[in-house]
Amino acid sequence: MTDSDHPARRYVGERARLPFELPARVQINEVGPRDGFQLEKSLIPTDAKIKIVDALSRTGVPSVQVTSFVRPDAVPQLKDADEVMQGVSRLPGVEYAVLVPNLKGGLRALAHQADVWETMLSVTDSHSRSNANRNTAQALDALRDVVALAHDHQIDVVGGMATALGCPFEGRVPYDRVAWVVATYQDMGVRRVTIADTVGVADPAHVYALSSRLRTDFPETRFALHLHDTRGLGLTNVLAGMTAGIVDFDSSVGGLGGCPFAPGATGNIATEDLVHLLMLLGVETGVDLDSLLHISRDLVAPVVDHPLESQLSRADPSWVLYPAPSSQELNAG
Ligand code: ZN
Repeated sequence: MTDSDHPARRYVGERARLPFELPARVQINEVGPRDGFQLEKSLIPTDAKIKIVDALSRTGVPSVQVTSFVRPDAVPQLKDADEVMQGVSRLPGVEYAVLVPNLKGGLRALAHQADVWETMLSVTDSHSRSNANRNTAQALDALRDVVALAHDHQIDVVGGMATALGCPFEGRVPYDRVAWVVATYQDMGVRRVTIADTVGVADPAHVYALSSRLRTDFPETRFALHLHDTRGLGLTNVLAGMTAGIVDFDSSVGGLGGCPFAPGATGNIATEDLVHLLMLLGVETGVDLDSLLHISRDLVAPVVDHPLESQLSRADPSWVLYPAPSSQELNAG
């Protein structure tokens, strides 16, 4: 099916335009298999994880975060990281990313030749201490060896910044604090940085302000947004990010994910909801929504013990039409 034949294209027709510029295309980094699965209580079988990663990489998504080389006793759900990386059928053109929390994880990750290592730290000291038992400066220091190891092996690093858009203990984070973390990453040679709204407290104006200012101050860094939908603001924050020139977004199939240190923090923005929005807006993602919905409903939903958070796991896309009920049917009701 060519793009112009797609029911979404016919449904939208002559697209009404927003009064601001949107990018022609954005890159989605699918984080469900790591960020999403990590918090699932019941153990997901390794072969199901491999099947889901393989299926996701065939939807057209340019990047999949496959697993994490975290200590197996710290996150038992991801203790099969080696088996998953070994089992995945790598597709050319798809970036396979792994989370590397420390040097020990880096040494394990090396064996699997992941395309990208993602690192994680919290921008605020209180969140950093509760999450990793050290402050932000100590966490940054510890990452130096990890980044050097990756660069020694020509592996690209994406530096994560949890709580950059708000902290459950400290609230809004001063700009200089975020800029200091970006500058330190830059100093290590990290040129891709992810601005995360770990507990879903960001609003569109704040996302726009922070993203624009960082892009202006760090023109050589490619910034991605990692947004959570805890308070229903996830997709409005995507729109705000795009108007600030951000073209890289993390999202999770089914809207899986959360934060163990923020009560009630729900999932990442759902990949299917994000792709649906971008299709309506005419922003290319390269992702086939129908395949994604199949994965969400038929592969992911059966292996988690709760309903999925995504809207499209419950409702059809906007362009799906239903037969109108006849007047007799209406009267009978
Ligand atoms: Zn997340």
